[in-house]
Amino acid sequence: MDLVPSPNASAREPVLAYVGLGANWGNAGAALQTALSRLAQAPGVLACRTSGLYRSAPVDATGPDYLNAVAELRTTLSAMDVLALLQALENQAGRERPYRNAPRTLDLDLLLYGDAHIHAPTLEVPHPRLWGRAFVLLPLAELAPERVSAQALAAVQDQAIARC
Ligand code: AMP
Repeated sequence: MDLVPSPNASAREPVLAYVGLGANWGNAGAALQTALSRLAQAPGVLACRTSGLYRSAPVDATGPDYLNAVAELRTTLSAMDVLALLQALENQAGRERPYRNAPRTLDLDLLLYGDAHIHAPTLEVPHPRLWGRAFVLLPLAELAPERVSAQALAAVQDQAIARC
């Protein structure tokens, strides 16, 4: 899949989209840095801010710890185009899905797209597993504290996670 956005991408009003990044297989730090720089340079991405890096234990899986971060994209891409971009970057990083919750060279999730609520067969926004995960909420709260309530942070305070 290429990274060319839909033809009307530049006609769209810019939106703040939040992307969760995770990796726990291979050189996870390099995978995240490469993904962040490709996101920042992608057509239709006007600006990119990134959270700090976090280290977290796998949830519902075995394997090495994850490195996690969140990126804020100011973008004219549609939500579906952002999803296509994320999947293209996962594929470029050699992502394979041999079984559910297998270790990941790169996992990219669209967490929030402005205030949109999307329920499509291939895309759910806000991301359905956003609220229960410290490795998403802590870096998201760095970038957009107004989007993460104190109650949501309190609910994940027992999860094993460290800022690198
Ligand atoms: P995963 O294996 O965790 O990377 O999940 C990827 C699948 O989740 C793909 O089939 C996507 O179409 C679907 N999906 C649904 N909502 C989202 C979202 N908000 N962000 C990323 N993938 C999503």
